[in-house]
Amino acid sequence: MPDLSLVPSAVGYVIAGVFGAIIGSFLNVVIHRVPMEESIVFPNSRCPSCGAVIAFYDNIPVISYVLLQAKCRGCKEPISFRYPAVELLTAALFVAVAWHDGLSAALPFDLIFTSALLALIFIDAEHMILPNVITYPGIVLALVARIAVPYLTGTPHFDDIPSLSQGAFAGMPLWVTSLAGAAIGALIGGGSLWLMGWTWEKLRGIEAMGLGDVKMMFMVGAYLGWRLTILTIFVGVLSGSIIGVVLMARQRERNMQMLLPFGIFLGLGAIASLLFGSQWVDWYAGQFR
Ligand SMILES: [Zn+2]
Repeated sequence: MPDLSLVPSAVGYVIAGVFGAIIGSFLNVVIHRVPMEESIVFPNSRCPSCGAVIAFYDNIPVISYVLLQAKCRGCKEPISFRYPAVELLTAALFVAVAWHDGLSAALPFDLIFTSALLALIFIDAEHMILPNVITYPGIVLALVARIAVPYLTGTPHFDDIPSLSQGAFAGMPLWVTSLAGAAIGALIGGGSLWLMGWTWEKLRGIEAMGLGDVKMMFMVGAYLGWRLTILTIFVGVLSGSIIGVVLMARQRERNMQMLLPFGIFLGLGAIASLLFGSQWVDWYAGQFR
């Protein structure tokens, strides 16, 4: 007899992966159209080279890219590798988030949060902007999740709630503690990014960071809470600095004015913190006991 108890979770991960690839296909539309302020619902997707409408059978995530051999059916111009890459990455992250949350009421919120971060990462990489049409709804999502998820799941769920409800917010209703955690996280996230930008501007006399990074970290801070927000900034600054130094060394150009789309690194830091951050922070704190 095969062990049937393994089947449901395996099927669940396959469903999460396929769903992730479909959402990834939608994120491609968001990444392409939001910076141009176009509707993400209408019209149908078109080939960026010849303008031909892409048929539904040529728009299947990843599979169509392989079957079309990375070329438009009409004009044979190459299709950017970014499209299947975003679809595969979203699929992999949806499986990872499903593994992290299990079948929980927190899962849809974590999936939307991850999708918003993915869209921000790729838009920042291409256009060096973090659009308000993603960060503002992201902040609203964070506040709704903060109130709803602890009640729906019956657990604190958010990383900062246990420490807050044992400390300053002892005896408070759960939603008050949760929203207070969101406010503290948002102020730490948005505040540190604003302070970094302000300091840089005073030191170098140039604007290094836009308000987009501040709003993005406002959203991340509200959702993840102060511990994972500090971790996000740490991971973001560390990975951004390493990549920045490597790029500068390659270009043999010691020009500190070279701008890095910092949102990419903050976004990656936030996703890593969502998935693994609580264990990392607990392990780190345990070193000092
Ligand atoms: Zn074409």
